[in-house]
Amino acid sequence: MASHIVGYPRIGPKRELKFALESFWDGKSSAEELQKVAADLRSAIWMQMAEAGIKYIPSNTFSYYDQVLDTTAMLGAVPDRYNWNGTEIGFDIYFSMARGNASVPAMEMTKWFDTNYHYIVPELGPDVKFSYASRKAVDEYNEAKVLGIDTIPVLVGPVSYLLLSKPAMAVEKSFSLLSLIDNIIPVYKEVVAELKAAGATWIQFDEPMLVKDLEAHQLQAFPYAYAELESTLSGWNVLVETYFADVPAEAYKILTSLKAVTAYGFDLVRGTKTLDSIKQGFPPGKFLFAGVVDGRNIWANNLASSLNTLQALGDIVGKVDRVNETKLDEEIKSWLAFATQKVVEVNALAKALSEQKAEVFFSANAAALASRKSSLRVTNETVQKAVAALNDSDHRRATNVSVRLDAQQKKLNLPILPTTTIGSFPQTADLRRVRHEFKAKKISEEDYVNFIKEEINNVVKFQEELDIDVLVHGEPERNDMVEYFGEQLSGFVFTANGWVQSYGSRCVKPPIIYGDVSRPKPMTVFWSSTAQSLTKRPMKGMLTGPVTILNWSFVRDDQPRFETCYQIALAMKDEVEDLEKSGITVIQIDEAALREGLPLRKSEEAFYLNWAVHSFRITNSGVKDTTQIHTHMCYSNFNEIIHSIIDMDADVITIENSRSDKLLSVFREGVKYGAGIGPGVYDIHSPRIPPTEEIADRINKMLAVLESNILWVNPDCGLKTRKYSEVKSALTNMVASAKLIRNQL
Ligand code: GLN
Ligand code: ZN
Repeated sequence: MASHIVGYPRIGPKRELKFALESFWDGKSSAEELQKVAADLRSAIWMQMAEAGIKYIPSNTFSYYDQVLDTTAMLGAVPDRYNWNGTEIGFDIYFSMARGNASVPAMEMTKWFDTNYHYIVPELGPDVKFSYASRKAVDEYNEAKVLGIDTIPVLVGPVSYLLLSKPAMAVEKSFSLLSLIDNIIPVYKEVVAELKAAGATWIQFDEPMLVKDLEAHQLQAFPYAYAELESTLSGWNVLVETYFADVPAEAYKILTSLKAVTAYGFDLVRGTKTLDSIKQGFPPGKFLFAGVVDGRNIWANNLASSLNTLQALGDIVGKVDRVNETKLDEEIKSWLAFATQKVVEVNALAKALSEQKAEVFFSANAAALASRKSSLRVTNETVQKAVAALNDSDHRRATNVSVRLDAQQKKLNLPILPTTTIGSFPQTADLRRVRHEFKAKKISEEDYVNFIKEEINNVVKFQEELDIDVLVHGEPERNDMVEYFGEQLSGFVFTANGWVQSYGSRCVKPPIIYGDVSRPKPMTVFWSSTAQSLTKRPMKGMLTGPVTILNWSFVRDDQPRFETCYQIALAMKDEVEDLEKSGITVIQIDEAALREGLPLRKSEEAFYLNWAVHSFRITNSGVKDTTQIHTHMCYSNFNEIIHSIIDMDADVITIENSRSDKLLSVFREGVKYGAGIGPGVYDIHSPRIPPTEEIADRINKMLAVLESNILWVNPDCGLKTRKYSEVKSALTNMVASAKLIRNQL
């Protein structure tokens, strides 16, 4: 019995890598300085694991940007537009692919499974000439070896790599990414041979795609690829690691019959059914790496129960190894375990099975869990009763959307193609400074309120001058759309350094939901009603929806996620109703993260969508017909969940526009449904100002599919990241184009 860590946060405990990267990108420090920071981080992690007694310590889990991009570099799969000369890939080509450069845009980025991490999507076609172009895996192995630590080098496995790729732009539709397997295997062989020569005794291939619902021909790629690698791998310890969910029975069978593989890693925290497959049969003589410590959450492990699982597994398998999927007020602190503590947990569990149980450590863990279970800070009976009372009823507004839109129109009297924005306005350095000073108690509440009021006043005047129809207050009081609410709701805490990498050097610090959620007092009413008092035009109240708050937090693990979501929904319902009472007639409830909470397996989607959509409806189930509920989502590729989006029963849905035709089907469904739809009419992420004719052209294309009475005109979300000058010109053109078309209709 030995301990193993699958991965580890690489950004550094104080985001050291982030700052080193950004300083290098700004030309303020040299490549050597960046390399030094990176090497120090790697050695600190390796030493910490070694000192904690971990047996299988990983290497090549560090990355300057992203591990999939590292694999692209290893394979020399650089898209032509970066003009790579075919030599070993250095920082310039690597960061050009990641972030673009003066003349070429970056490669596409997309979400890594069901996490909030984003990876760089490989672009592959039949003409890519693969070659061994980055020796990073071998270099990192050697680097650890010099420190006296023999690591397991980790590679993204060949099949998952191809399945995570997309066909390059000019490639024919019929092109199959998996057909490239023969082209990449030779490079994998070269890397493996070098690692062997360097003295590595183990290798780990991450094949997380095995947890998805794969088609038969995709599954068949695994036996094919690993048979091809067999001659190079023979006589070696080869671990194939999976994570994030169960490995379906069919995939389990295929995986465990791979001859070249000697060890299998499974996530037994998120995947509870894999245990059944293991019980039904595990290949004799092979190793099991059992993932029993949750690397994706921050709660201390229930060591006693993990030990039970391990003991049971030990009886079945004989040889068990253990895995931790770490990626990543004193009482609450004792309930948590971040990466460092998880390493210690993993080791304590391994020791308890093989040598001797550290009784003191185990009893401290049991005491912390007991204190968490019985703490009055966790439980709020009123909230629990309210959630229990929700059961079985379906919260829905009494009338249908067309009836409501008529009632709202009588009150709002909006022109056709009404114009609006998604909520935030540019956040200047001054504004950030003042918010910061207020938090640090360097300025008085009065000064702060006056400053924000002035800011809101400016934003209101700005929009009136632009002649926008439905206004927003600009969100100047918010640093982040989840943090702002988490700070005011009970049941949330915030860490100082609980950073999670989102992409590249960007990190987020998710709030921790530790207890029952309630809303002690109104959170946005003051700002929204202040803003409304400054204008005769409708002012949108601006809230973050329960599903997004849930999905962007560390969620308690002692009750089902849906229960926590319902608690947040009830708290937000109070806020919605208080906004309505204060005279706000349009309320936008952002559900930016609804889609990313979708489970990885199709069989679990319906259950999630049902409670997520229900949670959203709860928030506004009590408002009058004349109150217009908007929702906003940051993506438009929700073809497969369109019925759930409609089931949210919002009056107006604003979405990010995509140039793809996919959006059309969403539009068509929207027509049937009858709600207002506001697809972003221009891309705010580019500094380029869209000319009026171009926006008008876009609106006309939308009108070819949509009735003019349901179309709204708005940009995509994220104005807070732009400059006022850009926003002014772009919105001027947007309003002009709406007017132009109104006149033609
Ligand atoms: N109301 C928010 C804004 O405009 C929405 C942010 C988001 O969707 N990510 O900034
Ligand atoms: Zn958005």
